[in-house]
Amino acid sequence: MKIRENVLISELTTMRLGGEARYVIEVDNKWQLKTVIDWAEDGGELSDGKKIIQSEGPLPWFVLGGGANTIGRDEGFPGVIILMRENWIDIIDATEENVMVAAGAGTVWDDFVRFTVEHNFSGVECLAKIPGTVGAAPVQNIGAYGQEVSQTIDHVEAYDTVAREFVILGRDEMKMSYRETLFNTGPEAGRYIITSVAFILYDADFEGMRPPFYNSLQKYLDENLGAKDKEIYNLEGYPPEVLYNGVSAIRGDKLPDPSVSASSGSFFRNIYFESSNTEALALAEKSGCKIYDKPDGRKMINTGALIEKAGFSGKLLHGMRVSEKASLVLINESAKSYADLAAARAEISAGVLDKFGFEIRQEPVEIV
Ligand SMILES: Cc1cc2nc3c(=O)[nH]c(=O)nc-3n(C[C@H](O)[C@H](O)[C@H](O)COP(=O)(O)OP(=O)(O)OC[C@H]3O[C@@H](n4cnc5c(N)ncnc54)[C@H](O)[C@@H]3O)c2cc1C
Repeated sequence: MKIRENVLISELTTMRLGGEARYVIEVDNKWQLKTVIDWAEDGGELSDGKKIIQSEGPLPWFVLGGGANTIGRDEGFPGVIILMRENWIDIIDATEENVMVAAGAGTVWDDFVRFTVEHNFSGVECLAKIPGTVGAAPVQNIGAYGQEVSQTIDHVEAYDTVAREFVILGRDEMKMSYRETLFNTGPEAGRYIITSVAFILYDADFEGMRPPFYNSLQKYLDENLGAKDKEIYNLEGYPPEVLYNGVSAIRGDKLPDPSVSASSGSFFRNIYFESSNTEALALAEKSGCKIYDKPDGRKMINTGALIEKAGFSGKLLHGMRVSEKASLVLINESAKSYADLAAARAEISAGVLDKFGFEIRQEPVEIV
């Protein structure tokens, strides 16, 4: 455990905004996590061996992984930010067709994906290079290039901060859909802190491996694999490593690298609506944007396309650049504060509402 005081949230989050957090505590295992939560809730003394801090409790707390989907506000945070740092990956079971691989919440997500690819396991290879940690992946059900993490998660271990005990939650209990889960939506949001995640992956040599079913990925592979490779791999037979490399290359070209440019990736969510929602369907048709049929029966339009058609692509608003390559992405080029981001967000949202009649929603979480 490591305790720090008065730390800028801008240093803990990839959007690089936000004032000071009163305490920041790194926890290396689930028992330390429990100790910190109990201390924050009940008060008392907490020590990391070097520093001793006191709280009268209850003190607000917020859990952070890599800060790639979280934004700090100018006023900072008066409580404790807990950084999840438990880092391990383990193959815990294997049959002829699949394997169960688990990882600690603080493991870097892409380290986990690379581990699976190096072992020729299929299931998360298209989620290559998504910034952040394993523990945050289930929270908003990360997805990219035709895969969603909900397709492969078997269960998580979590600390139930209400019952104050560790629990196992199965995939069905997590209510995972596009960017929404038990962890971030509804009455239980924020209740569970994930300490490890277990995935069911396929042995890629076994039949039943999933093909890439995302157009831009397929196109990239068609155009970039050499003739010899094309003979070896048919549509259904790309090894995970080829898909991992393909997705990494596409992302490298299209998305900002958080170590270079400040952003939270997609700043707005795509728009999902029930197919029975005739009003939304009429607006979607009028917008001229492509309407997608999703596997859960809903329809979707890409908010990035609306932002582009509303004329915001490439624009610099209050120090925030609307990415030219991916209009859902806002890059913090020179914003001085959260207030600048809020002003840019308001302009884009109002522009889209005005032109297309859709209210758009922010994807990243805010520390409040
Ligand atoms: C350049 C870029 C590209 C991106 N591309 C994608 C993409 O393709 N697809 C996609 O889905 N997302 C994408 N994202 C968003 C982001 O990478 C993911 O949401 C990722 O899962 C965030 O991980 P993190 O550890 O940084 O989460 P954080 O930002 O630290 O936390 C996010 C939320 O999860 C909660 N949380 C974190 N850890 C835990 C835990 N252990 N238990 C319970 N709650 C927890 C936090 O309280 C917060 O509410 C992108 C972001 C960037 C910057």
